[in-house]
Amino acid sequence: MMSSKPLEVVIPMDLRYRWSAGPFLGAFLRGLKQGRILANRCPSCGRHQLPPTGVCGRCHVPMEKEFLELSRRGTVISYSFVVDPIYDPATGSMRDVPYTIASIVLDGAGDVAFFHRLEEICQEKVRLGMRVEAVFRPPEERRGTMEDIIHFRTIED
Ligand SMILES: [Zn+2]
Repeated sequence: MMSSKPLEVVIPMDLRYRWSAGPFLGAFLRGLKQGRILANRCPSCGRHQLPPTGVCGRCHVPMEKEFLELSRRGTVISYSFVVDPIYDPATGSMRDVPYTIASIVLDGAGDVAFFHRLEEICQEKVRLGMRVEAVFRPPEERRGTMEDIIHFRTIED
């Protein structure tokens, strides 16, 4: 008598993908590798895009092709304390907690925020309006990713 259970064939697959970041995000990631934070500007409304994009999110017109280097310093406009570990697709493991994620407006970026971790994890020491500065990995450790910035440290200025 034949079994009605379907025959299974297990094929382990190791799929690796590479794709182009494109001219705008590519320039931004190359900038990070050089220790620079690059944005571009809309020729119509003057607003910055960070990371740079091909089209303005407000005006829907093509952005300027030149990139501007923004300051490493900025101001915290919102933040969250993360206490539950989540999967990090960049590393393939769970993120260590706690950490502070913040929305930071870099000096000269207008109203465009940049999201990254703060070094400070003490809730009593984090506040809106606090001044922070990007801390980059040493040049030999940078890979052209957001992780080239370790975090933003608190500064007094
Ligand atoms: Zn615009």
